[in-house]
Amino acid sequence: MRFTIVTLFPEFFDSPLEAGLLGKAIMRDLLSVVRVQLRDFTCDRHRTVDDTPFGGGPGMVMMVEPLVTALESLREERPDTHTVLLTPRGRRFSQAVALEWVESGDITLICGRYEGIDERLVQGGFVDEEVSLGDFVLNGGEVAALAMIEACSRLLPGAMGNEESVPNDSFYQGILDHPHYTRPREFRGMEAPPVLLGGNHAEIDRWRRQQALKLTRQLRPDLLEGMELSPADRKLLES
Ligand code: SAM
Repeated sequence: MRFTIVTLFPEFFDSPLEAGLLGKAIMRDLLSVVRVQLRDFTCDRHRTVDDTPFGGGPGMVMMVEPLVTALESLREERPDTHTVLLTPRGRRFSQAVALEWVESGDITLICGRYEGIDERLVQGGFVDEEVSLGDFVLNGGEVAALAMIEACSRLLPGAMGNEESVPNDSFYQGILDHPHYTRPREFRGMEAPPVLLGGNHAEIDRWRRQQALKLTRQLRPDLLEGMELSPADRKLLES
């Protein structure tokens, strides 16, 4: 899979893209992340990418021209890339979006800064979609881009240390993950559930599925709405 990030701060990604499983996925060529400096697509001496807002008001607005020049140049190289503007007003990022992107295989992420981006970038059809990390405002799109890239990387075949862990992850099958326990068996009067120590794997699987369903109903009932539960799952939830 390939990501191209259009940003004013390519160096922001230096250490995160080298660390942990994400770094390993890149080293093993399962994922490539290309950073593009937006200022390389300006044509003035000062490499200007922003200007004061028409109509007045605080802050600066990112200019449409360097962005369009950058995107057109990238599209010449990769005509099928799916171009995403990162913005708080966009479709909310989720595991489902991550899966879509992994299937698509080639994503370009545009990181805004300042007050935002000249509306004509969207109006002119230069992006395929607008996506948000959540209902809050970041200083720029870089943190959002990194979170989205990492979420996608977990879904790439061969990218995780333990492939079995991904299908149990929260949201992968539409529900939350089950609770986890490790040593010591007892901590400040709290015992680990005996079923996990009994060695009966069918029982353990059943308990974990039941706990995952129970936690989902308790903490995120919205996830269960409209979900077709199997008869076995319904029985587990009722018991
Ligand atoms: N004035 C804008 C608003 O209220 O919608 C926020 C601009 S923000 C300071 C600068 C840039 O950060 C945005 O253009 C966007 O690229 C990025 N950004 C901020 N919050 C984001 C979020 N929740 N999801 C994705 N990108 C975000």
